Amino acid sequence: MDALLEKLVEENRPFTREGRVAGYIPELAKADRDELGICVVSSDGRISSAGEYGRTFTIQSIIKPILLLLALMDNGEDTVRARVGVEATGKPFDAINYTDQALLSEHLNPMVNMGAILLCTLIHGTSYPQRLERLLELTRRLAGNPSLSVDEAVYRSEKQTGSRNRAMAFLLESCGLLHDDPEEVLDCYFRACSIRVDCRDLAHIACTFAVRGRRPPSGEQLFPARYAHYVNAVLMTCGMYNGSGDFAVKVGLPAKSGVGGGIMAVSPARMGIGIYSPGLDEKGNSLAGIRLLEQLGRRLSLSIF
Ligand code: GLN
Repeated sequence: MDALLEKLVEENRPFTREGRVAGYIPELAKADRDELGICVVSSDGRISSAGEYGRTFTIQSIIKPILLLLALMDNGEDTVRARVGVEATGKPFDAINYTDQALLSEHLNPMVNMGAILLCTLIHGTSYPQRLERLLELTRRLAGNPSLSVDEAVYRSEKQTGSRNRAMAFLLESCGLLHDDPEEVLDCYFRACSIRVDCRDLAHIACTFAVRGRRPPSGEQLFPARYAHYVNAVLMTCGMYNGSGDFAVKVGLPAKSGVGGGIMAVSPARMGIGIYSPGLDEKGNSLAGIRLLEQLGRRLSLSIF
């Protein structure tokens, strides 16, 4: 496996140049576009990696499946389902999904910003910093990495430039969907997006979704199997935003991208995959990362279809 990953990384490295590093969060623009790394954790706990797999970057939208998982663990499926819908939006991650006078919970999806901002309000805790701490703790547990923490510089950078997310939070409030102080909710969301991870962390997290809530190799059950089904289903239909259909045809796996350049892909029953390459395509997904995943998927027949 290591040799295959090395080969695919070297074959795809030239494509890193075709991507563009996210510039709308100034701190993310500092990333090195030429980097490409991958880590795979198999369902029996074997780890393989290649390229810049140890480089750390901010998790960005890949926190959304973990936010959804914690909301499910805290509230149960019916409550979460009633507050945030599951239909694919077919729109960019920061789209304002507001077509007529009514914005309803069924217009939201957990994998795009409006839905994820609302999910922060469903996390249990007496304060927003405490909710964030519980989310960080779950992320550490899924990754098996107790040292994960928030990158304060990226957090401040996004907070200063996050007018669009702010607009979404206030729109949710004005439509009666968000009941807490929007600024506190946004603070939790921005910090959650700024958790620093590497490809190994993403692969371990993905693997827990691949093996229905268990952690290989011990088999410890971290969360109910049903919630892995729920999260994987939403990842499959909306995890790559308006690129989800194309990604389903090319790769055929539940996956989530982030504008930091990460991709987390779930190969049910087989493996979790973490990829990093900060050059993005026009939809905000890692360009070389998708190519690498497509080729790995073909070599190992990973598509679920
Ligand atoms: N923090 C980013 C934002 O809200 C996350 C977006 C992403 O990774 N696609 O704009």
